[in-house]
Amino acid sequence: MAKIKVRGVVQGVGFRPFVYRLAHQYHLNGRVRNTSGSVDIEIEGAGKAVRNFINDLQTKAPPVARIENIKATFHSPRGYTEFQIEPSLSREGQYQLVSPDIATCADCQEEIFSDTDRRFAYPFTNCTNCGPRFTIIEDIPYDRPRTTMRKFKMCPRCQREYDDPLDRRFHAQPNACPDCGPGLDLVDSQGRTVEGKDVIKKAGSLLKEGKILAVKGLGGFQLACDATSRKAVNTLRDRKRRPSKPLAVMISNIKEIEKRCLISGEERKLLESPQCPIVLLRWKQGTDIAEAVAPNLKYLGVMLPYTPLHHLLLKETGLPLVMTSGNLSEEPIAGDNDEALRRLKGIADYFLMHNRDIYARYDDSVYMVEDGQPRALRRARGYAPYPIFLPFKAKQILACGAEDKNTFCLTRDEHAFLSQHIGDMENEETLEHFENTIELYKKLFRIEPEIIAYDLHPEYLATKYAIETGASSSLKLVPVQHHHAHIAGCLAENGVKDRVIGVALDGTGYGGDGTLWGGEFLLADCKDFKRVGHFEYVPLPGGAAAIKKPYRMALSYLYTLLGEDFKLDGLSLAELKAAEIEIIKKQLKRKINSPLTSSAGRLFDAVSALVGVRGEIDYEAQAAIELEMLAPDKIDKAGVYPFSIVEEGGMRVVKLKELLLGVVEDIKNKAPAPEISLKFHHTMADIVTEMCKLIAKESSIERVALSGGVFQNRLLLKLTTAVLKREGFEVLTHRLVPANDGGISLGQAVVANFAEI
Ligand SMILES: [Zn+2]
Ligand SMILES: [Zn+2]
Repeated sequence: MAKIKVRGVVQGVGFRPFVYRLAHQYHLNGRVRNTSGSVDIEIEGAGKAVRNFINDLQTKAPPVARIENIKATFHSPRGYTEFQIEPSLSREGQYQLVSPDIATCADCQEEIFSDTDRRFAYPFTNCTNCGPRFTIIEDIPYDRPRTTMRKFKMCPRCQREYDDPLDRRFHAQPNACPDCGPGLDLVDSQGRTVEGKDVIKKAGSLLKEGKILAVKGLGGFQLACDATSRKAVNTLRDRKRRPSKPLAVMISNIKEIEKRCLISGEERKLLESPQCPIVLLRWKQGTDIAEAVAPNLKYLGVMLPYTPLHHLLLKETGLPLVMTSGNLSEEPIAGDNDEALRRLKGIADYFLMHNRDIYARYDDSVYMVEDGQPRALRRARGYAPYPIFLPFKAKQILACGAEDKNTFCLTRDEHAFLSQHIGDMENEETLEHFENTIELYKKLFRIEPEIIAYDLHPEYLATKYAIETGASSSLKLVPVQHHHAHIAGCLAENGVKDRVIGVALDGTGYGGDGTLWGGEFLLADCKDFKRVGHFEYVPLPGGAAAIKKPYRMALSYLYTLLGEDFKLDGLSLAELKAAEIEIIKKQLKRKINSPLTSSAGRLFDAVSALVGVRGEIDYEAQAAIELEMLAPDKIDKAGVYPFSIVEEGGMRVVKLKELLLGVVEDIKNKAPAPEISLKFHHTMADIVTEMCKLIAKESSIERVALSGGVFQNRLLLKLTTAVLKREGFEVLTHRLVPANDGGISLGQAVVANFAEI
């Protein structure tokens, strides 16, 4: 007899019926059951059949199962006379991986569009290969009574499917049909039900009329409107108080996407994957999508429908639909019906809701494909809570992450459970979402942290949470420098523990020395780091005001590096009010509220404002993004601006005066802005490479890790990677976790694991 333990995402994904069918196929007897740690199988029969069985477990597993390992031991036979699926077994302290929610599979899609099927047009159709998982699970083992589906009693037909090991819905916990499952309700902004038999039809016609609908999806409410209507899109923007940050669009199928965007093979694969994320695609000129969906951008965030409700709604309208998080500005996505009515009342005209409760809030994931690789920009639906696998066995740690795009990370064994995107930690609601989600992960993965890791920035809400939690318990506190965490996160997801040259370019992070870092060159491993270089310091005049108004940054660079008598003639900055320029000059001179920063993100901002692309922003990194978008498609031919690297007190510093003079001269000579943008990007890639060459000479390290939000700039990532590789460097980049602060918590956990405490 073989005893087999299978670990990974093997529950709620049709694994046991697969095992059952496999056992029958090979005429084997025995049993299979879920435990809180693994799927356990006992199997008896001919030796060759057993070997084939074990082999097929790995190679023929259901599409959404993810097998981490299979362990088989051999024992004397027990004399099983049949093969059975036995009830789940809960074991104290043990845990197992939980499946993310999965986009509607092809079989279920066929059913909802086939008018003879009993699930025709049923918006909650699912099976073991698809449907909600993480968003409805309250505890493990994953069985219906421990999900929000427990309040729906299956009808006899659904129960038969659920009980039949050969059925596609065998033990599909959210299994439902029109007779017994959740139902839709369409209400107006006062919560009054809109009369009418066919809810989808009514919702569709409201969308076609240009109305804004709040739609309850998998992990929360989304706001939907006609993406081809400029008026509808602008109304949504006004009400959501989101003037220009790009909105995602849901389009019914690949053919319809191809009418509007260019798609590579990799991008298509990602769009059609069971994870079904938003993918940033190159937008074709002159399509029917309103420009207001993503103003001034070349890329459009596009996703396919991923629930039956979305499929039905898209079919009904025949339109591409804006589908964006149901929240006001930076609040978390609204989860339950009452909350949605309360919070989205002023935004949505109507609410398309249902009575299946959402236990965990879950935003859409956002990816881009660059250098042939899918790269996470926001990691949530379809990915979390699947772990990142660590190249070591970790202690039990809670890492609290940073402020913007917060995620937290809990570790245990080789698993780093990086949370879904939580949001910007700047309000009570998000903090509460953060705390609740931490408790959920602790419960699901049976983690009791012994260490709590956090950012050095004293004003981050996540830092305050960490310090308060640490003070009221016996948890050991480990502060981790922001850019070290960036690099450690990049190392961990690449399975590397050794020392590398870490290049962390981002907006700003607390340096620990009273300055704001952000253009950093580190020698770093998972334990320690040494700062060996950085971009030149300039003041951030007015602190946060300089981030919102990039022209302030441009003035700071000009007056700091070229002297306070510098004349703005011939630059668009000359159009600023003289009084405001004087105030900024004074701030710089007297060092009023002007902390020093070495931020690379702010340098991008300054150049963007200088070139006249954008002097004020209304979403993060807008100036830098629009500068990148301006660069021409042909990127190989461009000059570079001069720069120098000097040694100051054992530290290499990138001096930017010549670069700045070069940009100013080009502007005055009326060089086209796209050319300046490309030249600047090439220069940044060269700066990184030159620094790495100098550091490599002294350290003999030829492996570079690139991290920080600035590397979400695809042009910069492409150029930097190419130049570094040409110079013989091995280059590590982010794929599984975002290069932005959404990846910070992973790095914090890694550093805390090796900290001496
Ligand atoms: Zn399905
Ligand atoms: Zn039913």
